[in-house]
Amino acid sequence: MSIKERVQEELEALEAILMDDISVTYDEKGCPKLIKSTIFPSTANEVNKQYVCATLEVRLPEEYPDCEPIVQLRNPRGLDDSTVNDLYKSIKEKCTEYLGQPVIYELIELIRESLTESNLPTCQCAVCLYDFSDGDSFTKTQCFHYFHSFCLYNHLETTKRHYQEEQDKLPTWQKATKGFQAICPVCREPINCDVEELKTALPPKDLENAQNFEVTSDLRVLQDRMKQLFSYQKSKGGIIDIEAEENKLLLITESTDEGSGDTNADPGPSDGALEADIQRGQRYDYPVHSGLNYR
Ligand SMILES: [Zn+2]
Ligand SMILES: [Zn+2]
Repeated sequence: MSIKERVQEELEALEAILMDDISVTYDEKGCPKLIKSTIFPSTANEVNKQYVCATLEVRLPEEYPDCEPIVQLRNPRGLDDSTVNDLYKSIKEKCTEYLGQPVIYELIELIRESLTESNLPTCQCAVCLYDFSDGDSFTKTQCFHYFHSFCLYNHLETTKRHYQEEQDKLPTWQKATKGFQAICPVCREPINCDVEELKTALPPKDLENAQNFEVTSDLRVLQDRMKQLFSYQKSKGGIIDIEAEENKLLLITESTDEGSGDTNADPGPSDGALEADIQRGQRYDYPVHSGLNYR
């Protein structure tokens, strides 16, 4: 059997087993280009108990299976870097072990097993930056991001209040017609959470036990250093004063063709002189009788 036939057989078997859970794209020559499968832990189809997932992407070099496939894990969710790195190590070992034989199904099973084992978010809460401890109540969004329920509630309430404040400042015609849509603080996907339920959650343990913030001498030193840096940057023009910028009507730029203006100018500002002055950022208040209409 040729290499191509062997690969075709492997892919057909995969599609028969995994059905919609796997997708294979082919190049213009009909060779498999990319095999993709999003893998979840085995939780006996209890989707709401799947806390982690990852998408496996496999590219097959022409010599596959006599050489190793190129494997990548995309969008690992609920997994910290060290868990992902360990997974990559096991994948590499499996590929070496299966050199010369079909390995894709083995990889999928390996990843699924590993996800089932670590089916608890090992990442931090993106709001408070503390880990998830035993007993903490946490929420998984539809986009597979994790937050302490307490943190997510506070985040949603704050963004909603901020949204309302911004809306209140706008004239009626500019107000959004749609109401507030909560979005994930990490990836900005729209999320729908039961806010009333989140509201009842207790603060995460690590946050409760955290020491009160104190300005230490180290912090003071850092503050002083930052203050100096700020003044230095300001003196170099590196800090933009937003308020001053908003009141500025014209930008000051250097004119490269200064003096090349109208040489037959009448007394008073000619078009050329006016242009040069505008470029220098100066402002003209024309007397009404000048007949010029630059507005
Ligand atoms: Zn948190
Ligand atoms: Zn998200």
